[in-house]
Amino acid sequence: MELFELGIEGIKALLDKKEVTPHEVLDAFFARINAVEGKVSAYVTQTREKAYEMAASAEKAGNSGIKTLSGIPFAIKDNLCTKGIKTTCSSKMLENFIAPYESTVTERLSGAGGVFLGKTNLDEFAMGSSTENSAFFTTKNPWDLQRIPGGSSGGSAAAVAAGECAAALGSDTGGSIRQPAALCGVVGLKPTYGRVSRYGLVAFASSLDQIGPITKTVRDAAMVLNAIAGRDPMDSTSAPLPVPDFTKAAGMDVKGLRVGIPREYFIEGMDPEVEKAVKGAVAQLEAMGAIPVEVSLPHTGYAVAAYYILATSEASSNLARYDGVKYGFRAAGKDLLDTYMQTRAQGFGPEVKRRIMLGTYALSAGYYEAYYGRAQQVRTLIKRDFEEAFRVADIIATPTSPTAAFKIGEKSADPLQMYLSDIFTISINLAGLPGISIPCGFTGTGLPIGLQLIGRHFDEEMLIRAAYAYEQSTEWHKRRPALPSDNGADKGEGPKAL
Ligand code: GLN
Repeated sequence: MELFELGIEGIKALLDKKEVTPHEVLDAFFARINAVEGKVSAYVTQTREKAYEMAASAEKAGNSGIKTLSGIPFAIKDNLCTKGIKTTCSSKMLENFIAPYESTVTERLSGAGGVFLGKTNLDEFAMGSSTENSAFFTTKNPWDLQRIPGGSSGGSAAAVAAGECAAALGSDTGGSIRQPAALCGVVGLKPTYGRVSRYGLVAFASSLDQIGPITKTVRDAAMVLNAIAGRDPMDSTSAPLPVPDFTKAAGMDVKGLRVGIPREYFIEGMDPEVEKAVKGAVAQLEAMGAIPVEVSLPHTGYAVAAYYILATSEASSNLARYDGVKYGFRAAGKDLLDTYMQTRAQGFGPEVKRRIMLGTYALSAGYYEAYYGRAQQVRTLIKRDFEEAFRVADIIATPTSPTAAFKIGEKSADPLQMYLSDIFTISINLAGLPGISIPCGFTGTGLPIGLQLIGRHFDEEMLIRAAYAYEQSTEWHKRRPALPSDNGADKGEGPKAL
């Protein structure tokens, strides 16, 4: 195996035994980036110089105390503020924006010794499911370069899958960590709302947004969560709860665990290969001693509609700040009003404009009760559905996405089709619950399929426990995409063969 194919645990083991240095680890990953980035296009910005500086200080500090991720190379979604490094949100509006402060998660990750390779591509302001809404370029799925990697954290998921980093951070408002993880054949964990501080995450829909890890294995996800979770005085919605050692849950058995299967999620018209893989995963959990139980989430059918009212309403308010005056792009207008209008007309892409208009309409006088008010009521009903289901189940299993990765351009002309691809992930954000996506099979044409596990509030340990047990009983997570390298440098130039 090549160094770049390893995840956190594998690299950490080599660093601990001093078989490699953080500098050599970086050489290996940058050589891999050189070799395949021209095809994958995962990164908006690469931070080589800074990465070597971070690796040098990781080397000096060693791996004692909180330095649990010392020398591990990470990719960071480009909607997380990094001081002194561009944070673009893949938008023309912030194309040259350099945040004057650091997000709490990146602060904590570098505090734990993590090294940052760069910032990854996303759908503009995290609005989308494919990275096709990026103002810069579309990221390609490493398993099939004609297909999308999912979104909005598509750059992060593709970078992990392609070996262009050991692990990454993403954000998830309606599925943006889990869906790209599923489509790229890696692990994506969306923590409970409030588990991880959102300070320094560029806001899309503040009552739904959460930050979490995208990794090659479940244990790696637990290690990242350990580093980034916990109360932060800079985010009043971060929960003042103790943070357990999540890695301890990896290794506990699943005997007697009740796995809920929601009746409403296995619908007619669902891709038969996805259905087969997910049902196979449930059967596998059962073979290990878990007990499948049928549950009902009766308001599932209203989730997409409610989400696209609430998320767009919050977005219309959050994005009001981009006026060409405070920061970011500014168009030259005739007067102040014209400057506002030109700035927003030229700075935002079509999907972001669509959402601002939809959200502004939903919040406008006379319509507020009919749209926003009702969507909030639906949100409460969805939350109650889960409360009921968790009376009889300890965890809920569903597909992450109704299909494997689709072709670039296949859904971009039809926003509704694109919105429907979020059907299995958005209810979890509406209810504020934690969810994880892990590889559970491949289609006949070799595209990865994801299993989603959903847990009770602040019970990420249960997710990690079940996900790890399943992962260890399969070989899916060991497969890597066969990427043609651009210049053959992934073998020769830098990385050490192990
Ligand atoms: N695909 C969903 C949307 O477009 C979710 C995006 C996200 O989680 N950031 O809103």
